[in-house]
Amino acid sequence: ITRDKIRNFCIIAHIDHGKSTLADRFIQKAKIVADRDFKDQMLDSMDIERERGITIKSQAVTLPFESEDGSMYELNLVDTPGHVDFTYEVSRAISSCEGALLLVDATQGVEAQTLSNLYLAFDHGLEIIPVINKIDLPGADIPGTLKQIEKDLGLDPEDAVQVSAKMGIGIEDLLEAIVQKIPAPQGDSGQPLKALVFDSHYDPFRGVIVHIRVFEGQLKEGQTVSFYFSDAEYDVEEAGRFRVGFERTGVLEAGEVGYFLAGIKNISDIRVGDTVTGSKHRCDAPLPGFREVKPVVYSSIYPVDSNDYEELTKSLEKLKLNDASLIYEKDASVALGFGFKCGFLGMLHLEVVQERLEREFGLSIVLTAPSVRYRVITKNDETLFVESPQEMPEPGTIETSYEPYIKAVIITPTDYLGNLMNLCVEKRGIQTELVYLTEVRVEITYEMPLAEVMFDFYDRLKSLSRGYASFDYEMLDYRATELVKLDILLNGKIVDALSQLVFRHSAAPRARAICKKLRDEIPKHQFKIPIQGAIGSTIIARETITALRKDVTAKCYGGDISRKRKLLEKQKEGKKRMKMVGNVELPQSAFLSVLKTS
Ligand code: GDP
Ligand code: MG
Repeated sequence: ITRDKIRNFCIIAHIDHGKSTLADRFIQKAKIVADRDFKDQMLDSMDIERERGITIKSQAVTLPFESEDGSMYELNLVDTPGHVDFTYEVSRAISSCEGALLLVDATQGVEAQTLSNLYLAFDHGLEIIPVINKIDLPGADIPGTLKQIEKDLGLDPEDAVQVSAKMGIGIEDLLEAIVQKIPAPQGDSGQPLKALVFDSHYDPFRGVIVHIRVFEGQLKEGQTVSFYFSDAEYDVEEAGRFRVGFERTGVLEAGEVGYFLAGIKNISDIRVGDTVTGSKHRCDAPLPGFREVKPVVYSSIYPVDSNDYEELTKSLEKLKLNDASLIYEKDASVALGFGFKCGFLGMLHLEVVQERLEREFGLSIVLTAPSVRYRVITKNDETLFVESPQEMPEPGTIETSYEPYIKAVIITPTDYLGNLMNLCVEKRGIQTELVYLTEVRVEITYEMPLAEVMFDFYDRLKSLSRGYASFDYEMLDYRATELVKLDILLNGKIVDALSQLVFRHSAAPRARAICKKLRDEIPKHQFKIPIQGAIGSTIIARETITALRKDVTAKCYGGDISRKRKLLEKQKEGKKRMKMVGNVELPQSAFLSVLKTS
């Protein structure tokens, strides 16, 4: 196939507007998967994605397509996530494409991430095709959506393609629009190799697999390539395209998207955003790459069993290959031993990393309470950045503390406006704008501390608006705040891993909620365990776990031996996921519940 028959495009949209479903229809149309192997949300290959019904990773796939005039095309499609936490994934997908399908759900209209994704695509100069999805639904408002496409998005409604991804309506038309409107990639296969690493992953059987978009030149099996950033050189062992799975082609030409293997041993040689070039014929300059990711939430990860530290180190390295937005460094805690302080793009990102470490790498881990990045000015006029309670200087030495603020934009049907305004006020939000988009939809803008939206804000926004409100945010600035370190004491001893940084006025309620949760999560011991919340030496909350009275097996009345054994085994199983802190056994769930207490 020649380059003028290649189209590289991504599907972008607000969450749930149907991106993954549309990708499914494309895959079926292209018949690259046998019907019996087809599953819904085909590209959401991770377990967590399938269970939660959301896309976390961008996924690429190459589809053959024969247009009306009988020409064969090669379509490289990238499905992208829609949740706020994963915008980084979207921007990477966008850098490897010439065009984007911007999906709008005809029953929901334009939402917060429809706009932010559109801006990303604009910034990269992509050709954008507006697509109205879910036209099969009775609630579909096609004229209204067309108007929004014109007014809110500034796109030509004439270009909009109407589809139902679920029912497979309008898919042919959309494919035709793609080959006609999206430009073929530029680039010359005769030039020295210049390719962008837009993703990578670790395969337990095949090792490191690098995902690239070739801009100039060719990448061939047997060729020696060099990575700009790490300056590492490798011989390409295998190269090919993404089908559902991998299709070895031996070569990737300018304009193509695909993968290669090169027996890469040192994982840190690979950096998403880096440029690959030939080691003999180097390209003149590297590609622009991606902007540095800025984590917004920090938390430390420790293995439940300290012997798993090495395993955790290796797993994080491999996970980082596939999740370039994950940032980590060594950390240590008195209670938990050695671990890693990690930076995340949001709470959902944190949960995903935790789940992937447990599922894909079989680790048992605990996480400390998440924190944002505070700025502290000391009395000696020093500026410190504080991302965990351990880094917090003594209260007496602090002149002023500052916390990061965000600009939060919420779009909601007017019915839920009251609910959402209350929520924002509770989260210390300051309203700066209120704009009626239509008679029934309103956009409100708040300035809010990031720490307040970190925990349950997104979930509560969704439940208070029955799923109809959407939310997007960007970082604003740092503002003065009153910050305290809240300690949790078990049996009179501070457990450093449970400490957290909080806004002074939230400290007491937070402390009470945590003590209660811990009381419910920590099993009874042979002795009484007081749980206390404290700021410095002042106790602000208290609960007690009473001592264990009877042997658990006593319940079995001695008779049934096998039942007794089962019960003991079950206890042992439970212990595996316990962490000894002093003489108290802390289950993994205790850390999780503290993590989620807001
Ligand atoms: P994504 O978050 O944008 O990837 O959205 P999904 O593809 O996961 O779809 C979200 C939900 O909308 C799923 O329950 C789909 O079955 C549903 N959906 C997607 N497209 C259509 C459509 O054209 N019609 C209807 N009725 N439902 C759809
Ligand atoms: Mg999806």
